[in-house]
Amino acid sequence: MPGKSKKSELEKLGDKLLFKKESCWEGIEDAENKEIFELSAEYKKFLDCSKTEREAINTIEKAAEEHGFVNIENATKEDRKLFMSYDGVCGALVYVNDPESFEEGFLMNGAHIDVPRIDLKGYPLYESEDMAYMKTHYYGGIKKYQWVTRPLAMHGVIICQDGRKVEINIGEHEDDPVFTINDLLPHLSQDQNKKSATTVIEGEQLNILVGSIPFKFKSEKNSIKLSILNELYEKYGIVEEDFVSAEIHLVPAGKARDIGFDRSFVGGHGQDDRICSYLGMRAIFDVEKAETSKNMMMVFFDKEEIGSMGNSGANSNLIERMVNDIINLYGKGDYNRLIKALENSKFLSSDVNAGIDPEWKSVMEPMNSAKMGYGVCLTKFTGSRGKSGSNEAHAEFVAEVRNAFNKDGVKWQTTELGKVDQGGGGTIAYHLARYGMDVVDCGTALLSMHSPFEVASKADIYHTYKAYMAYYKYL
Ligand SMILES: [Zn+2]
Repeated sequence: MPGKSKKSELEKLGDKLLFKKESCWEGIEDAENKEIFELSAEYKKFLDCSKTEREAINTIEKAAEEHGFVNIENATKEDRKLFMSYDGVCGALVYVNDPESFEEGFLMNGAHIDVPRIDLKGYPLYESEDMAYMKTHYYGGIKKYQWVTRPLAMHGVIICQDGRKVEINIGEHEDDPVFTINDLLPHLSQDQNKKSATTVIEGEQLNILVGSIPFKFKSEKNSIKLSILNELYEKYGIVEEDFVSAEIHLVPAGKARDIGFDRSFVGGHGQDDRICSYLGMRAIFDVEKAETSKNMMMVFFDKEEIGSMGNSGANSNLIERMVNDIINLYGKGDYNRLIKALENSKFLSSDVNAGIDPEWKSVMEPMNSAKMGYGVCLTKFTGSRGKSGSNEAHAEFVAEVRNAFNKDGVKWQTTELGKVDQGGGGTIAYHLARYGMDVVDCGTALLSMHSPFEVASKADIYHTYKAYMAYYKYL
């Protein structure tokens, strides 16, 4: 056999010049493999107890306390690790190295904790054909047909007339009931089968089944509806009008799971974008290892899935209010300091990207789309058509981020969201860029994005965490 010891001139040239895509699993050590699986195990726990943005903020606050972070409301000038939340649905973790240098800007990372889901309407309960249902209105970009015939859990809060806050969490424990949206049997689906995917289940058909026993077993008009209202009254002290001042979400019941014989993937709902939220949280907890003198933040936004609107979304002045509150804790803030602090900040807009699925390859451009298990995605621009609606990061900033990743051995890949003109999507990036700060998109690739069961590679999860650490370390 001819010896293969010597590299050809062409191979050597390739080593020197080519941009290599390489699987994260290729040649890893046992110790790293262990770290990958340990991180994902913790991440799954986070998903399981953070099924709404409010639950996510509670989980983050608890974890923050364990890591020595202090709620800014109780913090003093001596504190350096802060937790802050706004309306209980969005917030931030802050690591202050030097309160004298806020004008130099923060190293910011930000993700969103809201996810596509199904919400109850304000006047939801009705009965039909001796069964009770609740009407819903979906939130975010979902494929409606994916949400039928599966067990759904109900999470949320109801604010009663007297101001009482009732927390709802039904369907996660084995002996809890669940809810479901029914579909038509195939035997009678001739007409339905001719419909397009967007209308095969209509928005107004996303009604959840909630019961069928009439009050005191006597079938009269509304006796099932009233029986259910009575049960809710006895259990939670709520009346029908209280649904108006409520946020009640239907999400897939059950826990996040490992996928595959080798358990190399995590499957679960809401990974867009709780994956970046969790990893960003972990990175700021571990930031002491970064040995930097910069001030750092990890921001958790709400309402990204509906266009970042509302006072908890990135399209509000939330980031201004946050930075202003931080500055004011350590001394007197003024508008000039605030604007300088924002302008000189850097922002990693951490959100998921679409991984190449062999079944749906045709919508992807393989050279510039994310491969599963090939590391964190670095995305210079998002948007659709001619980059419309995109922040498009400056080359200089992308270079800084790329260098940081390379210094720390982060596996990363350059990505766009699918083929040019195939569709597209946006992130929170451009809402932050308005303050003059540099912003670039960076996050984990998913399969089945926005579905009830999204899929992420454990290797990509690990390298996303490493990327966030490298960003804090080297920028
Ligand atoms: Zn997202």
